Amino acid sequence: MDANAVDTTERAAPVAGGGFLITNPAPGDVFTPEDLNEDQRLVGQTVRDFVQQDLLPSLDRIEEKEWAVTRTLLRRLGELGVLGIEVPGAYGGAELDKVTSLVVSEELSAGSFSVTYGAHVGIGMEHRADASHAYIRYDDVRVPADHLLGKEGSAFVIAQTRLGGGRIHHAMRTVAQLRKAFDMMCERALSRETQGEKLAEKQMVQERIADSWIEIEQFRLLVLRTAWLIDKYKDYKRTRKDIAAIKVAMPKVLHDVAQRAMHLHGALGVSDEMPFMGLLLAAEVMGIADGPTEVHKITIARQVLRDYKPADGLWPTEHLPTKRAAARERLAHLLEGEVGNL
Ligand SMILES: Cc1cc2nc3c(=O)[nH]c(=O)nc-3n(C[C@H](O)[C@H](O)[C@H](O)COP(=O)(O)OP(=O)(O)OC[C@H]3O[C@@H](n4cnc5c(N)ncnc54)[C@H](O)[C@@H]3O)c2cc1C
Repeated sequence: MDANAVDTTERAAPVAGGGFLITNPAPGDVFTPEDLNEDQRLVGQTVRDFVQQDLLPSLDRIEEKEWAVTRTLLRRLGELGVLGIEVPGAYGGAELDKVTSLVVSEELSAGSFSVTYGAHVGIGMEHRADASHAYIRYDDVRVPADHLLGKEGSAFVIAQTRLGGGRIHHAMRTVAQLRKAFDMMCERALSRETQGEKLAEKQMVQERIADSWIEIEQFRLLVLRTAWLIDKYKDYKRTRKDIAAIKVAMPKVLHDVAQRAMHLHGALGVSDEMPFMGLLLAAEVMGIADGPTEVHKITIARQVLRDYKPADGLWPTEHLPTKRAAARERLAHLLEGEVGNL
């Protein structure tokens, strides 16, 4: 099958013109945090307890690069079953769904440990130019036939399918990073006083806080819905558009919120005593790793356009003179009657 081909068999019927305004999505078509089931809430509570009891007291030592502490905490997460959360049971994993994975990523947003966790369950985002990525060149590589994953020649399809999973993990970690940036912004607004009042009392600061809260919630719900669709269809091809959408939204929302949080900290914000530079760089990386934003926008547009068709004639369907003429023709008998009654 062509790597770009998409299953179109179960696509909803096209919605003509402004028809979306009068059609309501069925309750089962949306997923909100209120829909989390008991198990998902329990996993969230378990990780929240871990953060309070184990992670937060060790945060300073982690930031000081005491790797033994990080190792101990990772081992503890392993005991809790969190490290193999999506890994099939046959390989010793918990085999839980994407929504549960999102719940865990959100809870583990404290400090750089979220990056450590991310690197363990997906692709980690390292913020330094000298980080651990390397150039690899394959030369005359021979792979034994029984070591092949999938069919010969299908590597691109497999890679794209797996990258879909990676992209949603980036998005989950971005939700965690957004919350961290937002927490810092709100704390600073309530702490810093200039010209006789707290920053939080200045309306332009309030606007930044409101905008950030709205954008984070919009993004978070989009990620949650996408995770839920992946769990529902268990087929990345059917959620390609949704995954591409969060991939495009991710760098922008992280950049905007991190920039506002940094700006609100003034000179302190742009110093290396605060983590904002790392967050801004992470936003840039998010817009490149696993495919640049432009490419994902192309994917979205192509998929969206499949649900539309060209206008039948010369004029657009909503061309007013054409519609008026059609209406006159259709209702001609009534119009003549009206004139007769005058
Ligand atoms: C931190 C990090 C981790 C990564 N991890 C992995 C990994 O684990 N495995 C892996 O295989 N790769 C990985 N990558 C590579 C990543 O997928 C590529 O860097 C990315 O796809 C962009 O490719 P490129 O660097 O060759 O840039 P190019 O393809 O040269 O693109 C450069 C720029 O050109 C523009 N552009 C490119 N294509 C288009 C287009 N079609 N339309 C309009 N504009 C376009 C965009 O602005 C883009 O940013 C990683 C990258 C980073 C930064």
